[in-house]
Amino acid sequence: LRRNPGEIEFHQAVREVLDSIGPVLGKHPEYAESKIIERICEPERQIIFRVPWMDDQGQVQINRGFRVEFNSALGPYKGGLRFHPSVYLGIVKFLGFEQIFKNSLTGLPIGGGKGGSDFDPKGRSDREVMRFCQSFMTELYRHIGEYTDVPAGDTGVGGREIGYLFGQYKRITNRYESGVITGKGLVYGGAQVRTEATGYGCVFFVDEMLKARGTSFDGKRVVVSGSGNVAVYAIEKVEQLGGLVVACSDSSGYVLDEKGIDLELLKQIKQVERGRLDTYAQRREHATFVPGRSVWEVPGEVALPSATQNEITGEAAAAMVAGGLVAVGEGANMPTTPEGIKVFQEAGIAYGPGKAANAGGVATSALEMQQNASRDSWTFEFSEQRLQEIMRDIHDRCLSTADEYGMPGNYVAGANIDGFRRVADAMLALGLI
Ligand code: NDP
Repeated sequence: LRRNPGEIEFHQAVREVLDSIGPVLGKHPEYAESKIIERICEPERQIIFRVPWMDDQGQVQINRGFRVEFNSALGPYKGGLRFHPSVYLGIVKFLGFEQIFKNSLTGLPIGGGKGGSDFDPKGRSDREVMRFCQSFMTELYRHIGEYTDVPAGDTGVGGREIGYLFGQYKRITNRYESGVITGKGLVYGGAQVRTEATGYGCVFFVDEMLKARGTSFDGKRVVVSGSGNVAVYAIEKVEQLGGLVVACSDSSGYVLDEKGIDLELLKQIKQVERGRLDTYAQRREHATFVPGRSVWEVPGEVALPSATQNEITGEAAAAMVAGGLVAVGEGANMPTTPEGIKVFQEAGIAYGPGKAANAGGVATSALEMQQNASRDSWTFEFSEQRLQEIMRDIHDRCLSTADEYGMPGNYVAGANIDGFRRVADAMLALGLI
């Protein structure tokens, strides 16, 4: 705490991992002897930079950019960029720290990193977003590369932003280095299913948790938070598997649609018009928009938090359990507070933490890197099948690791222990790094 004052989200993420790995340290004294914990909590490199740009009124704007290169024991740093006014070092470090273990869990050769800016793309014109992205990359380019650090999208960074960022990288370096960034458009080196991967992957993970309990999505009432990249494709896959999504949200409130969210309408408003959710209720007769309230007051059997960190408090979790909740799959990173997690675990809910449940995004990014490296491009069907296999494998490893450590059904312990072991073993093998 003294080394990293005020970084509350980072403290929370570290505490959650450390709480789980005590039994591993008991079995492997070599980890403590070589100070793996102290080393793993200290980023290998942290970059903070000025991002000056000009808005449409000709005014100079200044934002702050970040890239935290946390751990490269397993491969090049890999993790998204977040553009949101709440971004500061503590958020980037929490996300980067989580990313180390998530990436390890995928079984693919990727290290952990994260970055972003306090820039708010909301309400900005395409030209302003482009100028910002170009300025951001004018500093970032010297720190990244196919073998060094490979950014991607996250909150506020979608296909439009990735295009502008990659375009500027290409222009500055004079290299068509496709593997330097993932989440690219299909016409310039992107991979099928990357856009859908985090949402789809989260639903595949929950499907496995439900199957392990002898049930399925079919006919289940589902509540989703957010209406961005992760939420939209989670809704799409739930609908394909026979579930009914009755509510989703954005930062202005939530919509309740008992007939099931109309995905085409949602995509039109959020992806094409970049509008707000109240428009959904204006255009769909029986739907209601509830401003300023949390979507977690809507009862459901499955909850897919896909908006932001710490959105499910202990109180909200208790209400969700009382409303008939069976399973939670975290599309977002750390959306449940420690109090909320305790409520879910004590109630015996199948609780899939973000590290495991939302790993499909980064896993598919690693598949994009694979395709770029071999100048290949796989079909949608093949890529989706790979994603499903990866999510099934993560699910099964979480369960078997939890069993091995005497905590059956505890996906948090399974994910943290399995993710940690692989990174720790690589760090030991590589000498004092
Ligand atoms: P988007 O920017 O596409 O969407 C975010 C959504 O969450 C928007 O609907 C946004 O509403 C809402 N939201 C954001 N902040 C808040 C808030 N404070 N209160 C209520 N709603 C909020 O981001 P993504 O879908 O990409 O990311 C969502 C989550 O998933 C994040 O935690 C991210 O780290 C995680 N994630 C994303 C991955 C990816 O591949 N994109 C991979 C793994 C995890 P509004 O538009 O009103 O701000």
